[in-house]
Formats: sequence, structure tokens, C-alpha cells
Amino acid sequence: MAEMLFGKPVADAISECLVPRIEALRKAQGSSEHDMTSGAIIPKLAIVRVGERPDDLSYERGALKRADALGIEVEVRSFPEDTSEDELVGALERINLDERIHGCLLFRPLPPSLDEARVCNALLPAKDVDGITTGSLAGVFMDQPWGFPPCTAQACVELLDHYGIEVAGKRVVVVGRSLVIGKPVAMMLLAKNATVTLCHSRSQDLGAICQEAEVVLFATGRARAYGEEFISVGQTVLDVGINIDEAGDLCGDVDFDEVEDTAHAITPVPRGIGSVTTAVLMQHVVEAAERAAKAS
Ligand code: NDP
Repeated sequence: MAEMLFGKPVADAISECLVPRIEALRKAQGSSEHDMTSGAIIPKLAIVRVGERPDDLSYERGALKRADALGIEVEVRSFPEDTSEDELVGALERINLDERIHGCLLFRPLPPSLDEARVCNALLPAKDVDGITTGSLAGVFMDQPWGFPPCTAQACVELLDHYGIEVAGKRVVVVGRSLVIGKPVAMMLLAKNATVTLCHSRSQDLGAICQEAEVVLFATGRARAYGEEFISVGQTVLDVGINIDEAGDLCGDVDFDEVEDTAHAITPVPRGIGSVTTAVLMQHVVEAAERAAKAS
């Protein structure tokens, strides 16, 4: 039976580390007019949401709950489905100028009529706490703190670190090459000296490639698609997928029941990687506030 790599202990450990950092910011003397008045820097996140998709609302509720527990402020700016591109760009530009806001989360995908790249890049990388700008992603690829990596990609790395799973010198296969997870997590694991293979829908012999790795990460959005022919004895399996199966149940990309006796360790879905993501979001907001304080 594989060891279960639950997300909650990872998220709790991240949150615990943030407590003294938030306290130090509160005691710091802010440099802006606003901060001088209050005599404190309170990390603050802006959430920008277009429409009312259930996934976004559910993530928003989780973020609000975690922020509240930590004393991080959150301001939700919601827009109707028919919001124009210029309106959204304007909202992000106002957030850029607002010294009380340190980080911004923009829910995606945006409605198809909007140019997502233009909207995303209206945000300053310094406030881009979920890695949606070109500047943040360039930072991930060049291993530079120009913005922040996408929270889910970082959550995978945090989970491996928390459970002491060393990737340096190991073969790691990442299945899925989106800019949200696959590509950034591959670069982040490469920066940790893993030997990374990045696979996608056109990869041939995927099962054999996966079985050769010590660590395999699935982020494809295919319900229970990866079973025993992808997994070998002793492997660590990270399942990033969040899917609804034919019966309407939440499940990952991995066929858990089929691989749990073969893998050495595995993240469950739910209660795996997904549970770490909002904690990483808060970590990024605090980091953004610290960077802003240092810069001023
Ligand atoms: P995308 O649809 O953007 O990307 C899916 C990737 O999977 C693509 O690169 C695609 O390849 C690849 N893929 C599709 N089919 C196959 C196949 N048969 N074999 C190999 N690769 C395949 O999805 P996301 O990256 O946004 O999300 C992936 C999953 O992660 C989803 O289930 C999503 O819900 C979940 N997710 C979880 C989060 C969390 O917090 N845990 C956060 C965000 C997403 P190609 O490029 O060739 O098309």
C-alpha cells in the first residue's frame, strides 16, 4: 500500500511559517502614506473574478478562509461576464498603483471574447502571485524572482520538499505541458537538479517513459486515465488532475485503486495537491508584501 501524500500537513506547515513573517510585516513601519498612518504593513490580496463559475467561487471561498485565519486582507473585485477587455485592464492597472494591495489573483479562463494574454500582462509581475504574466513565467524559466510561479506548480514542489522526496539526480516525468502546471513545474524541478522529461498528448510510448522515472507527475485533466501500465514499483506519483468522473465523483488523472499497491507514495484526489494551492497563494502574497517593503 502506497504512502499517502496528503496536502493538509503541507498547507499547515506553510501557513505556520507565514505567521511570524506576517507579524514582522505588521510591526514594520510602512513607507507609503497609508502605511505611515496605520504604522503597519498588512499583506493584502485582490481577487479579480469575471462571472460566477462554481470552480472560481469554490477556490475563492477557500482563499478567503485561509487568508482570514492568517490575518491577510482580501478584496474581491467581481465583474459581469460581458465585461470589456479595457475595463479589466483598467482594473488591473488600478491594482498595480494601489500600494495597499500586494498581490492579485485573476481567475481564468476569461470569457473567449477577451484577449487573455493582454489582460494578464496588464498586471505587474511584482503583484502576479499566481504566475500569469510573461514576466513571472520568464522568472520561472530563468530561475529569477521577477514575479511568482503558478501556485499549483509551486504546490507540487512544496509537497515533495515537505515529505523529503529528493529529486536531485532523479528521473522525473511530467505529463502535461500547460503554462499553468506542466511547463513551469518541469522548470522548477529542473532547477532542483532533477532529470526532467516533459510529455504531452503526442508523446509515444508514454507508459514506458513514465515507468522509467522515480517520480511521475500527471497534469492532463483525464479522469483516472493512468493505471498500472504507467507506474512501476517504488515510484512517487503526484496527481494534479481534478476531474469529475462519469458517476459525478471528483477524481484525479491517476487510477488510484489500480496503482496504490505498486507506487511507493501517491497524492490522493481530493486532499492532495489541491489542498496546498491556497497556502502557496498566501505565501506568495506575504512574499510580495515583503519584497514591496524592502524595495521602499
Ligand atoms: P490543460 O488542458 O491546459 O493541459 C492539459 C495537458 O495535458 C496538455 O499539455 C495536453 O497535451 C496533455 N494531455 C492531454 N491528453 C493527454 C494524453 N492522452 N497523454 C498525455 N498528455 C495529454 O490542463 P491544465 O494544465 O490546466 O490542468 C490539468 C489538470 O490539472 C486538470 O485536471 C485541472 O483540473 C487540474 N488542475 C489542478 C489544480 C490544482 O490546484 N490541483 C490547478 C489547476 C489545474 P497537449 O499540450 O499535447 O494538448
